[in-house]
Amino acid sequence: MIINSLGTLVRKLLLMKPRVVFVLGGPGAGKGTQCVNIVKKYGYTHLSAGDLLRAERSKEGTKYGELIDSYIKEGNIVPVEITIDLIKRAMDETMAEDATRNKFLIDGFPRNTDNLDGWNKKMDNDADVKFVLFFDCSNEICIERCLERGKVSGRTDDNIKSLQKRIQTYMQSTKPIIEQYEKEGKVRRVDGAKSVDEVFDEVQKIFDAEN
Ligand code: UDP
Ligand code: MG
Repeated sequence: MIINSLGTLVRKLLLMKPRVVFVLGGPGAGKGTQCVNIVKKYGYTHLSAGDLLRAERSKEGTKYGELIDSYIKEGNIVPVEITIDLIKRAMDETMAEDATRNKFLIDGFPRNTDNLDGWNKKMDNDADVKFVLFFDCSNEICIERCLERGKVSGRTDDNIKSLQKRIQTYMQSTKPIIEQYEKEGKVRRVDGAKSVDEVFDEVQKIFDAEN
């Protein structure tokens, strides 16, 4: 009897292991926009690493505010200890509220080897990475979109100076991470240069096939 219900409990816990989709692509490739669509249709929880960092930066009395601020402005990648704590906390909070909410889109992470190592060390046993959704978009279009967004976004990094650094970081540090996942057969590539609706058509094909 006890063994039986223990078995049920273990099965339940296993079933509820977080299922993660990493969403990657250059700045302005469409990650955030498409994540909103995916949340609506497929019931994921969207966690943007950049948004979590920006929220942490604006908190009163945070010890990391200035550090995060300068990393973001310079287009550099914040040390993973900070980012992963924020991601983990957000996942835990979501699942504490409702244990069935175990599907997460982690947007804009992992961006470099430090991020990936940090994830593997801290989260690999506790979450399953299903696949990497990759928005493939030329640097020119990415820059153009971010400059357009910069007119209203109020972001300190949507200006040409920061963007050049962000693109450089993306090419040098994030691209190799995508290539690594590619070798494991985990990348689902979408042409991010098309319109929002066209891109979402492609995205739906991917999620319909995976679910
Ligand atoms: N960032 C970081 N680690 C992350 C995600 C973001 O350090 O895991 C920082 C980095 O400086 C990046 C900035 O936050 O350039 C903005 O990231 P975001 O994902 O919001 O930009 P997007 O790619 O969506 O334009
Ligand atoms: Mg974003």
